[in-house]
Amino acid sequence: MSRSSAPASSAYPQPMLRVSGECRSSSSTGASRAAKPHGNAGILSSGSISPLNNPALWSALPKYLSNQHAALRWNIGWAIRNPDWVIRFLANTRESRLRPRATALHGLIGASLKLHREWIVKAGAGQRIRETGWLKAWRSDAVASAKAEQALLAEYGIESRLLDRQDISALEPSIVPVYKVGLLHTQTASVDSPGNVVKAYAKMLVGAGGEVRESNIKAIVPEAEGWRVVLADGAIAARHVVVALGPWSSDILRPLGYRVPLAFERGYHREFKPNPARSLQRPIHDAEGSFLMTPMENGVRVTSGVELTDRDAPSSFAQIDAVEPMARGVVEFGDRVGDTWRGSRPTLPDSLPMIGPAPRHRGLWLAFGNQHIGFTTGPATGAAIAAMIGGAPPSFDVTAFAPGRYL
Ligand SMILES: Cc1cc2nc3c(=O)[nH]c(=O)nc-3n(C[C@H](O)[C@H](O)[C@H](O)COP(=O)(O)OP(=O)(O)OC[C@H]3O[C@@H](n4cnc5c(N)ncnc54)[C@H](O)[C@@H]3O)c2cc1C
Repeated sequence: MSRSSAPASSAYPQPMLRVSGECRSSSSTGASRAAKPHGNAGILSSGSISPLNNPALWSALPKYLSNQHAALRWNIGWAIRNPDWVIRFLANTRESRLRPRATALHGLIGASLKLHREWIVKAGAGQRIRETGWLKAWRSDAVASAKAEQALLAEYGIESRLLDRQDISALEPSIVPVYKVGLLHTQTASVDSPGNVVKAYAKMLVGAGGEVRESNIKAIVPEAEGWRVVLADGAIAARHVVVALGPWSSDILRPLGYRVPLAFERGYHREFKPNPARSLQRPIHDAEGSFLMTPMENGVRVTSGVELTDRDAPSSFAQIDAVEPMARGVVEFGDRVGDTWRGSRPTLPDSLPMIGPAPRHRGLWLAFGNQHIGFTTGPATGAAIAAMIGGAPPSFDVTAFAPGRYL
């Protein structure tokens, strides 16, 4: 949530009061939030332009129906209670829906990566970014799949390199040569601690005159001259309010009459002590194993696939349990460090975020629904909203992200 203290007409509202969330076990809106405020694989992905609900999903669906696959588990009760979301999500797998969404995401991602690369240096965290790409790897002879992905990326000018087993060993000498085929996303970057990068950005905001305040937001209430943000420990008057609460955004909007069709692609990660003699150079996505391994500041982080269920349903560790031994079979690492983390990827039926004004309230802005790539797309999401509040055009086309398409 943010309050601009600059005039609405200024090109870029500079000093912002940002109210960011505390991760308590239960929020003001009655929903529980995960115990830890951070997670994810730290990938700043140039190539994530084809969402999960792409035409290839249909051929994979039969193997997901048994609910035993590490890539996707789904709760049947949740699916029965959310038929609209399921039908609309599947309807977006149509071939005709692929390129319009890829084009929209490409614009958002491109603008975001530019900002990340600028900000991370300005924020004094430049040592955290690695320009070593992201390796997607197949154990089977999946050259056709790799080439199809490469062709789609090439349509958008996104570079990638097709690799064989020897190329992969040359790039990642510490891994066991289990992969026959690889696709290196050369323009993708990654960071060694997403949490510390975001903290560095917050510090930069404060250095530029902004203010960060942590509190639990109970409600946002329209008033004659703007908004009142009701906090657990007070209230803030604001001309503009930006709802950027990720998976909790729909809760805060419901009392205002907005029913947001938001689903939660939950995922888990575990971190392990590194073996210094066996280090990874970049994040690796095991395409058939359905997991990711990323070298982080304090060890190797393994992340799981998608669990479609209620946001606050009890954790199920089946997917991460299944992939941990597979990851250990690729690279040696030590004991587990800390607890298993759970996060919710907030996803609208078309897998595009909402970035723009709320349709029925002046001064209310929506910025959420960034599904699997919210760490990548955060900067341009924020910059686009800031531009719109200031009356300027965003640096990329936001038409496809208009909240009015669902509200
Ligand atoms: C396993 C996994 C791996 C991932 N890896 C990557 C990756 O490598 N790269 C990438 O780009 N993306 C990745 N993602 C996706 C990314 O993490 C999500 O897209 C992103 O977290 C959503 O970002 P957000 O800022 O919208 O919401 P969040 O990060 O969920 O932030 C929302 C914030 O709002 C706060 N909040 C909610 N309600 C309230 C309230 N009432 N009052 C106050 N505060 C409140 C919450 O506490 C939270 O801090 C991954 C996700 C998962 C699950």
